[in-house]
Amino acid sequence: MTSTVVTNIRTLVTNDPALGEGGPLGLVHDAAVVLDGDRVAWVGPAAEAPAADSAHDAEGRAAVPGFVDSHSHLLFGGDRTAEFNARMSGRPYTAGGIRTTVAATREASDDELGRNLTRFLDEARRQGTTTMETKSGYGLTPEQESRALRVAAEQTDEVTYMGAHIVAPEYADDPAAYVDLVTGPMLDACAPYARWVDVFCEKGAFDGDQARAVLTAGRAKGLIPRIHANQLSHGPGVQLAVELGAASADHCTHLTDADVDALAHADGTVATLLPGCEFSTRAVYPDARRLLDAGATVALSTDCNPGSSFTSSMPFCVAIAVREMGMTPDEAVWSATAGGARALRRDDIGRLSPGARADLVLMDAPSHVHLAYRPGVPLTSRVWHRGRPAGA
Ligand SMILES: [Zn+2]
Repeated sequence: MTSTVVTNIRTLVTNDPALGEGGPLGLVHDAAVVLDGDRVAWVGPAAEAPAADSAHDAEGRAAVPGFVDSHSHLLFGGDRTAEFNARMSGRPYTAGGIRTTVAATREASDDELGRNLTRFLDEARRQGTTTMETKSGYGLTPEQESRALRVAAEQTDEVTYMGAHIVAPEYADDPAAYVDLVTGPMLDACAPYARWVDVFCEKGAFDGDQARAVLTAGRAKGLIPRIHANQLSHGPGVQLAVELGAASADHCTHLTDADVDALAHADGTVATLLPGCEFSTRAVYPDARRLLDAGATVALSTDCNPGSSFTSSMPFCVAIAVREMGMTPDEAVWSATAGGARALRRDDIGRLSPGARADLVLMDAPSHVHLAYRPGVPLTSRVWHRGRPAGA
């Protein structure tokens, strides 16, 4: 184990209010961070930094915790360029487009799925993401779903079983039988590789009763619920998430006052907003301001997937959230780091304070505000992941 002091940081976001100013961000100016092995050992003013085995001069850059992307769908074959092109020419997005990817994913080899995942995780890391959840949901048979999750578990800790993404084409005439498969043999095959269970609760996918069956069956096998809720229309997803103690209700685009109230008073259910999706489908953005003002915990995530949001960029999501969803730059940066950690029920990531995992991003900017102020600009200068410089 060797230690590194990263010093001469102009603005450091710790996400620990006890360590600095700026409320939840716990900002430290002219700061240093000591990374020891895969952990953060010390944080504070650069002038007081202890010695370490090596030093890295940040030359006045800002530092933030590695982004925590708590929602993606990266286990797929093919792509949907043609569908995107058509949609941008006026055709609305519906949940059915997923079937195109199901066909291509079933054709893909394990090797191809694994290489795709590696490529996306590397792509995201170059943009500052150091934790990425990902889901199954493009195989829709016990064999296909479990092999996708096995491939995922080799590359990330945060793996989600989502056999209930859409009803498999073979069960189009008998959705109840598909739910029996998802909550029975498919779950048995998948549970060993997953930490989470997820369901797309939406018209055209699974209704409230079906979603409840999927999540409670998963929970009985030791998986923790999360849910695609209220994305395309009002529905029971958010209330179900809060009632079942899901870690996260994702999308939250179409909310009643009662939904907002439920999230604001939820015990551990985060509202995860996925603005890349509304951007890519020309849909109305979720109202982050309404959720924050009510007191809900908000996370931001990419929803990276080939159909409705093919971006792996958390900085892009931060910029949209600020421009279109009423978040302040401070709130958006918190939601993309600490918020994502909450949505994954992790306390070792999403912060830069002693004991945290050594996931640190240096930006070619003096302040984290530039993530929103300079949209589309590749500001990521250097990334430490588990204490190692990415790419090293
Ligand atoms: Zn999703």
